[in-house]
Amino acid sequence: MKRKTISIWGSTGSIGTQTLDVISRHSDLFSLFVLTAHHNIDLLYKQAEIFKPRAVVITARFEDKEWRQRFNSLGVEVWEGKKGLFRAAEQGEEDLIVNSLVGGIGLEVTLKALKRGVSIALANKEVLVMAGELVTKEVKKQGVDLIPIDSEHSAVFQCLQGESKERIKKIILTASGGPFYNKKLSHLKHVTVEQALQHPNWSMGKKVTIDSATMMNKGLEIIEARWLFDQDPDKIKVVIHPQSIIHSLVEFIDDSVKAQLGIPDMRIPISYALSYPERLLGHYRWMDFSQPLSMEFIPPDLEKFPALKLAYLVLKQGGTAPAVFNGADEAAVRLFLHKKIDFISIVNLIEKALQQHSVISNPTLEDIMEADRWAKEFVMGLNK
Ligand code: MG
Repeated sequence: MKRKTISIWGSTGSIGTQTLDVISRHSDLFSLFVLTAHHNIDLLYKQAEIFKPRAVVITARFEDKEWRQRFNSLGVEVWEGKKGLFRAAEQGEEDLIVNSLVGGIGLEVTLKALKRGVSIALANKEVLVMAGELVTKEVKKQGVDLIPIDSEHSAVFQCLQGESKERIKKIILTASGGPFYNKKLSHLKHVTVEQALQHPNWSMGKKVTIDSATMMNKGLEIIEARWLFDQDPDKIKVVIHPQSIIHSLVEFIDDSVKAQLGIPDMRIPISYALSYPERLLGHYRWMDFSQPLSMEFIPPDLEKFPALKLAYLVLKQGGTAPAVFNGADEAAVRLFLHKKIDFISIVNLIEKALQQHSVISNPTLEDIMEADRWAKEFVMGLNK
């Protein structure tokens, strides 16, 4: 593989640190351009010491001059705040940006980066949920790659290599079901933050772990898949697969089905996104077929997990509806993590926000950002 220059947006988060883990095992193949973090400056500094990027971006309020000097003494520039992130988007000189920002913040900067024609490895699914049409239009216009890091979408992306869109009959996203898929509906009312944060298979950030427990994560992923693979929503299905071994499947018009398998370790899809269209030598655990292995597939219960139904509904509504779905979820998860609302209320609040929202068709970026702001304020307001 030819050497690549990479930037990582959100380098101190779960995906960011795992991306650096992959890169550290192939240091001859990658160099770092920009690392960005919100407020975990200690970790960002440690990363800068090891990986020596050209610059770091610190997006949280940052007034400590000593830190700036410490980074500078490593030969690393410090770009501050939202402006710094915009600079990284507009003036980066990398071959690939790994966007692992959390939430809607990544949208504006992703569009800016795409406009200068850089390929993006996307972990920040909100970008496609909020503005799938705007983003995929720009990707096409620029002729760049948009490579999914999300394990399900990486699986579909891998299954589709050498295939064409017209041959797809169905895309089947697998879902672990989170910790509660086999619990009774009445049980969900009493779920605590701690219980919801116990994901059975994957080690992920807090937001996506809660989203996984409500199945909002799968709802967001249905929307993400719709745009990434340019498919009608009714061709995108979900199946619960508690072992998280098959990461997703594609059924073709000849009734043949391809699946991608692997142990649940995000470093594997990250590795593929970094090396695409090639592959890197793995250094992880692997599937052991010398041992008995069983896999289950269970259809999801839409009454217990209404987030899935809502995802199809907002895709049908289009326009700003998916941005409201996403923004309301961000706010509701924050309230749940702060123990202000119960588990069931997360999706209830999202549904209420959608009922109150007047959808704008063919939205501009400003309309989408406004819908996101409105949804968050609406959910926060309901809880006052
Ligand atoms: Mg996923």
